[in-house]
Amino acid sequence: MAGIYVHIPFCKQACYYCDFHFSTTRHLQEDMVRAIAREAELQKHFLHGESVETLYFGGGTPSILELPQLERILQSIDQHFSIQANAEITLEANPEDLSAEKLRGLKAMGVNRLSIGTQSFNDEFLHWLNRVHDSGKAISAIENSRKAGFENLSIDLIFAIPHADHSIWHKDVAMAVELAPDHLSAYHLTVEPNTVFGNWLKKRKIDIADDQFAAEQFEYLYEQMLLSGYDAYEISNYARNGRISRHNSSYWFHKPYLGLGPGAHSFNGIKRQHNIYNNPKYIKAIETEKIPMVEEILSPADLANEIIMTGLRTKWGLKPGLILEKSGYEVMEIHAVRIEELIYEGMLLLENGNLILSRKGRLFADTIAAELFIAG
Ligand code: SF4
Repeated sequence: MAGIYVHIPFCKQACYYCDFHFSTTRHLQEDMVRAIAREAELQKHFLHGESVETLYFGGGTPSILELPQLERILQSIDQHFSIQANAEITLEANPEDLSAEKLRGLKAMGVNRLSIGTQSFNDEFLHWLNRVHDSGKAISAIENSRKAGFENLSIDLIFAIPHADHSIWHKDVAMAVELAPDHLSAYHLTVEPNTVFGNWLKKRKIDIADDQFAAEQFEYLYEQMLLSGYDAYEISNYARNGRISRHNSSYWFHKPYLGLGPGAHSFNGIKRQHNIYNNPKYIKAIETEKIPMVEEILSPADLANEIIMTGLRTKWGLKPGLILEKSGYEVMEIHAVRIEELIYEGMLLLENGNLILSRKGRLFADTIAAELFIAG
């Protein structure tokens, strides 16, 4: 079973922290829709006939597209791939796009999961991040999605936004709990070089939160989500009633996936590739029936390290058997001494042969993963 990711590279305005691939110039929107629908056809053999269990519209801002545009992409995928009857079909949506009419249309075309980019419920923060929406819109988008019959809703929050204390974060978490989404993703605010914040940081116009401040917010969220009945199934992701993101989980379990659209990544189990990050060039290439992609052959060590990095972040942990099967490396032997130390230090737990981060270890996930990497 496999997944398909569709990248919609347009946004209304640039959020100051964002370094994803998107354009705020939207005159190519119609050509882009045509190109993505066409790419689905050109790539129809990539998954070797495997059935598609998850389809994910990400971006950029997929909800920026008109309903008929989304429908055309969906129809092309449906025509060229075998989508399972119970497939998870997710669309990332920004609150300001979710009118009652849009929600009805999305539901009618088969979208069954919405990932709503709320980020915060504090208007001052939202404005500082240069988001289009305010908290009122975020709350009504969630409520209206429920009314429209969406039973699987995810929201995003950003933590470690620099502030004198944790009061705003505590309110954000309380509001999230009150709204009771099925799924919540929480991201640490990072300042990337080619963003407005990156530029401001260079000029010392903004501060970033220190590690201790960020760790306290990370821990607070963990406690509150567990108290509210959520499962911390991945470091950044919480779900209730078993509503984990099936699409993202398939990345962590190394299932094959196809990415459509500029900048989208694909993986067939051995080879990874991504389309170029340039909208006009992508459209032009597809018009001439070429997939404008860059190939990346993963060495066995690269593969092992990816499984270590992603697996360790999940509640299922790092699976030495999967690493051995996919890469040939015996991670438990290679790092026997360090693994024993990490268990002794209370960072790792060994359960059913898998290595799982302890609560303390979750705060050092990246460092621990790096210590267990296989030298290429
Ligand atoms: S809406 Fe999303 S993709 Fe677009 S700029 Fe903001 S964070 Fe980035």
